[in-house]
Amino acid sequence: MIQDLACRCGCKVFSARVLGNEGVGLVTCEEGHHSLLFDSRDYWVECIQDGRPRARKCRCKSKLLTLQAEYEFRESGDVRALCLRARCAACGSERVLMTADIKCGATDKVVQEPLDPIERPWLKPEWVTLTGLWTEEDLRRVLAYAEERLGATLFFDPIDGPVQALSAEEVVREAETGRAYWLWLGVGQVDFPTERMDCWRTMPVVDLRSPFTMSYQVGRGQLQYVRYAEEVAEGAEFVKQPGAFLSFARSLVEWLMSTFDSRRGRHAVDNSRERERLGFG
Ligand SMILES: [Zn+2]
Ligand SMILES: [Zn+2]
Repeated sequence: MIQDLACRCGCKVFSARVLGNEGVGLVTCEEGHHSLLFDSRDYWVECIQDGRPRARKCRCKSKLLTLQAEYEFRESGDVRALCLRARCAACGSERVLMTADIKCGATDKVVQEPLDPIERPWLKPEWVTLTGLWTEEDLRRVLAYAEERLGATLFFDPIDGPVQALSAEEVVREAETGRAYWLWLGVGQVDFPTERMDCWRTMPVVDLRSPFTMSYQVGRGQLQYVRYAEEVAEGAEFVKQPGAFLSFARSLVEWLMSTFDSRRGRHAVDNSRERERLGFG
């Protein structure tokens, strides 16, 4: 099934900022109305953290397009996959901007409302993200500091089981097994939802999940992410996280920045020896 996409004002000519690999995009009609494509809303904020995706330009330099969505259905009637086709409004040349497989679930919306209006697409909540080239000893040191000096509770999350408050030593022992885990640092009691993968964006917790193993030219290293949200979305507004949490999270960040090495970049909190070993300056 193929359908032409039209803005809520009826306009059928758009500029499109599409991240084809992520299956995420924003289109803007000639009248300036913004819409997110399909189910982009869940991923959009993350995709604009590092800047605005560029509007697609045709070889003829025009950025104006007409758009068609093509759907492939399962026997059940759910959408299996979709494809976004664009035709240049100036020269008529055609191209595919995005293809996406749709996981099961309610898929009617992507057919009935492929364009999801958004008033202020560039508004984003403030997130703090640090990365550190760490060893297990660094993790031990950071967790001990958070626990003893900042009074943090360490919520160990085995991903496939219930969240448990553990001591810094216990978390380090879990980390040493090499299994993937999530780790949430909070103050006091925190009630976790069932879906926890990205819960740091909406809850008063610092995310310190298991590090990523990176292959650099000189060898492998462990890259630890430390991130939290200063504010969370509430409807169309962003509200600050609770004060007690923010004072904890900011103290932790301040200590990390003053204790570790930031030569690799503005948001780096590295172990200097690891940074040197892995060839960063
Ligand atoms: Zn419009
Ligand atoms: Zn063209």
